[in-house]
Amino acid sequence: MGEKLDKKLNGTVIVTYRCNARCSMCNRYKAPSKPEEEISIETIKKLPKMYFTNITGGEPFIRTDLKDIVRELYKKSDRIVISTNGFFTDRIIDLAKEFPQVGIRISIEGLEDTNNSIRGLEDGYQRGYQTLKKLREMGMKDVGFGMTVQDKNAPDLVPLYQISNEMGMEFATASLHNSFYFVEAKNIINDRPMVAKNFEDLINELLRSNSPKKWFRAYFNHGLINYIYGQKRLLPCDMSFDTFFIDPYGDVMPCNGTKDKEVMGNLNSQSWDELWNSPEADAVRSKVRCCDRDCWMIGSVSPAMHKYILKPATWVVLHKIKALFSKHPYSMYENKIVRDYRDGKVSKEELDKCSTCDMCAVVNNGLSQESMEQLKTRSGEEIVDADIKSQMGE
Ligand code: SF4
Ligand code: SF4
Repeated sequence: MGEKLDKKLNGTVIVTYRCNARCSMCNRYKAPSKPEEEISIETIKKLPKMYFTNITGGEPFIRTDLKDIVRELYKKSDRIVISTNGFFTDRIIDLAKEFPQVGIRISIEGLEDTNNSIRGLEDGYQRGYQTLKKLREMGMKDVGFGMTVQDKNAPDLVPLYQISNEMGMEFATASLHNSFYFVEAKNIINDRPMVAKNFEDLINELLRSNSPKKWFRAYFNHGLINYIYGQKRLLPCDMSFDTFFIDPYGDVMPCNGTKDKEVMGNLNSQSWDELWNSPEADAVRSKVRCCDRDCWMIGSVSPAMHKYILKPATWVVLHKIKALFSKHPYSMYENKIVRDYRDGKVSKEELDKCSTCDMCAVVNNGLSQESMEQLKTRSGEEIVDADIKSQMGE
């Protein structure tokens, strides 16, 4: 099942599990990687050719050698986007000066108060917003917001989209997921109709725009409604076939949505071709084929939307025709499950059971033995705080 060697892949490089934020929907900040163990330039040199690379964390800008990583990745990737919480403004601006073509996505979880309460970063909204503004002033084109929609921030969805529009920026959405990557199993949407209604409003805004990219974003958000109601993915998931994730330890994985860490091979000790064509990699691909977690994250949906373009394209055409006659071309009740819930045919408990939320789960955080070891004497927050202090020369 190994892919042809000359085919460009879609890769995500998790450069660190260290994070300075304290998000309510992610416990990664409690489970940092040890800096000495984090993916090296030597390992990055072994990655295959990619048409797209996402650099993420933890918080990637905690790594002081991020520019070296990006420089190396540009030798093998057509496009790079970095996901960040936007806190290290100077580092972000500095990197953008050297790589003006790089994409930057700053997670902002709502308007000021909502964002700061979800993210747990003092002044987090202002920092993120000011960083984005500076990047725009520098003439950077590929910059934008990313928002993880949940009960607490759903009412801010359209207002935040409008702000990003005024700034001429991209607006990417997600919703709550559970996995080893987020060190979380208890994320769940409680008021599904309320959250879906806010998505519906956003979808109608996007459909009314003149940008084909936004029409397809509308389809992605339609898929998010389907996801929060725990339904089967609208499109197949082909992670690990022409996409991969690599973690700070060099472990190559299909995605970041699995309950436990799934490993196809290790790039520190193996060559790319060896691990990509290994029986272990094929075993992971078989698991992906029967995976029932039904995630709807841009990392797994964007490649699927390109591959199975007919389905989203038909949806877009249909709704653009509707938009000619109505200001509200989309209704969340187009989804049968949303109607069934409204009509009392399915209960909240039944829907909760369809989600990946598991209140009793013991979460596997995917850390190495050594990284786990350091947590015996200090908490993840203490370790990373001390780390950042020493970086800042305090
Ligand atoms: S969601 Fe991102 S910024 Fe928030 S704690 Fe997790 S890794 Fe850090
Ligand atoms: S649905 Fe896809 S992205 Fe989600 S856990 Fe399964 S394989 Fe990974």
